[in-house]
Amino acid sequence: MVAEIDYKKCTLCGSYSEPICVDKCPINAITLRNKKVEVTEFLCEDCNECGCACPDNAIKIIKVTW
Ligand code: SF4
Ligand code: SF4
Repeated sequence: MVAEIDYKKCTLCGSYSEPICVDKCPINAITLRNKKVEVTEFLCEDCNECGCACPDNAIKIIKVTW
């Protein structure tokens, strides 16, 4: 299970330089790269702290098959 960003919904928190999900993730599994937030899947522990905090409801926890 990992967090997945829906880029159609994500507004980068209104273009703030510090996106909320990046700030909320306790293990730094979300980073801002090239004006896009990205989840490092192998780090993510599916705690959903990012999803609860996202103002755009743009993060879902999904199942992945490795
Ligand atoms: S908190 Fe939501 S809107 Fe803000 S950057 Fe993360 S996914 Fe995008
Ligand atoms: S689900 Fe938890 S560990 Fe995974 S990216 Fe979100 S805040 Fe980080």
